[in-house]
Amino acid sequence: MSQTNGNSPHSERPVENVVIVGSGPAGFTAGLYAARANLSPLLITGNDYGGQVTITYDIENYPGFPESLSGPELVEKFKAQAEKFGTRVEFDYVNEIVVDRHPFVVRTTGGAEYRTLSLILCTGARPRYLDVPGEQELTGKGVSYCATCDGFFFRGKDVLVVGGDSAAEEAIVLTRYASRVRILHRRDRLRASKILQDRVLSNPKIEMVWNTVVTEILGQNGSVSAVRTLDTVTGATNQLKTDGVFIFVGHLPNNDLFPGKLELDADGHLITDRKLRTNVPGVFAAGEIQDKVFKQVATSVGQGCAAAMSATRFLEELEAGHRVDWHADPREFVAERAAVPA
Ligand SMILES: Cc1cc2nc3c(=O)[nH]c(=O)nc-3n(C[C@H](O)[C@H](O)[C@H](O)COP(=O)(O)OP(=O)(O)OC[C@H]3O[C@@H](n4cnc5c(N)ncnc54)[C@H](O)[C@@H]3O)c2cc1C
Repeated sequence: MSQTNGNSPHSERPVENVVIVGSGPAGFTAGLYAARANLSPLLITGNDYGGQVTITYDIENYPGFPESLSGPELVEKFKAQAEKFGTRVEFDYVNEIVVDRHPFVVRTTGGAEYRTLSLILCTGARPRYLDVPGEQELTGKGVSYCATCDGFFFRGKDVLVVGGDSAAEEAIVLTRYASRVRILHRRDRLRASKILQDRVLSNPKIEMVWNTVVTEILGQNGSVSAVRTLDTVTGATNQLKTDGVFIFVGHLPNNDLFPGKLELDADGHLITDRKLRTNVPGVFAAGEIQDKVFKQVATSVGQGCAAAMSATRFLEELEAGHRVDWHADPREFVAERAAVPA
C-alpha cells in the first residue's frame, strides 16, 4: 500500500472522508450515520437507484410504518433523511475502485474521480431471473423473489415455487401463508440435506413437480394466472394454474468491482467481520453484498448503520495519528485465528 498526501495532481477535488457506493437501504443508512457524524459523505447511487426495494409490493415488515408503504416511497424517505444531515447524492455508477493505495480512488462512468479516506461498499445483490416471457411484466403482480417479504400477500392462495435447494427452504416459509405450494424442479430429486428433504417431502401443503421448467408466465387482469411448463425428460408441455410464482434460481451479488481487490467468498460476497470491515483497512461493506443469510431491508439498514460507525471510528483513529498497518487484514477473526497457538 503506497501512501500519498491526498493532493494528487490528477484531481482538483478535495479528498473525501467517506464515499458510499450504492443507494439501497444499506447505502442510505450509511449516509445518514456518516452525515450525522459530520463526515459530509458522498453517496454514489449506481444504475438501480434505491436498490431492490424499488421492485417490491408494499413493505409491511419495516418497523415504524404500521400502515405499510411502497418500496419507492421508503427510498425517498431514506434519501430525504440522509440528505437532511448532509449526505451528497450523486447519480452515477462506479466502474473502478483502487484500494491498494491511500487515499482510495473511486472512478465513475460519468468521468468523475474521487479520492477518499474510507469506503463503504453497499452494492447489494439481485435475484437471478428465469428470463421467460411474462416474468418481467408480472414482477410485483404475482411474481416474487422473496418469500419472507411477499408470502403474507398469498394467504390462502395457490403458489408455485421454482428452483432447487433454496426454493425448498422458501417453500417451507410459504406454507405459513399459502394453502398449496408446488415446487417445480428441473431434475428428479433435490440435492438438499436429508433433514430439509424430509421436511419438504412430508409437508402436507407441499407437492413436488419433478423434471419441470417454466417456459412462460401468464397473467389475467394484470396478475399471475398460470405458467406454461416443459417436462425436461419427455418434452411434454403443460399449463398450471396458480396465483403466484416464487422464483429462487440464484442470488447474484453485485461484485464486479471487487475481484482481485477485496476478499470474496465462493458465492462472490465480500467477507466482513462483525464490524463490517473487509480485508483492507478503511474499506467497509454493508447489506446484501456481504450478507447472504438475512437479506431484508431491516438487516441491511442495521448493517449500513454499523459500517458507518466503524468508518467513523477508523477516521477518528486516522486523524488522531494512529498508525494503520495497510498490509494487515483488520478483521477480528483473522486476529483471533492468529492468537490461537498452533
Ligand atoms: C422482489 C423483492 C421484494 C423484496 N421485499 C422486501 C420486503 O418486503 N421487506 C424486506 O425487508 N426486504 C425485501 N426485499 C429484500 C430487500 O430489498 C433487500 O434486502 C435490500 O434492498 C438490500 O439492500 P442493500 O442496500 O444491501 O442493496 P440493494 O437494495 O441491492 O441496492 C444495491 C445498490 O447498489 C447500487 N450499485 C450496485 N453496483 C453499483 C456500482 N458499481 N456503482 C454504484 N452503485 C452500485 C445499486 O444501484 C443499488 O442502488 C425484497 C427483495 C426483492 C428482490
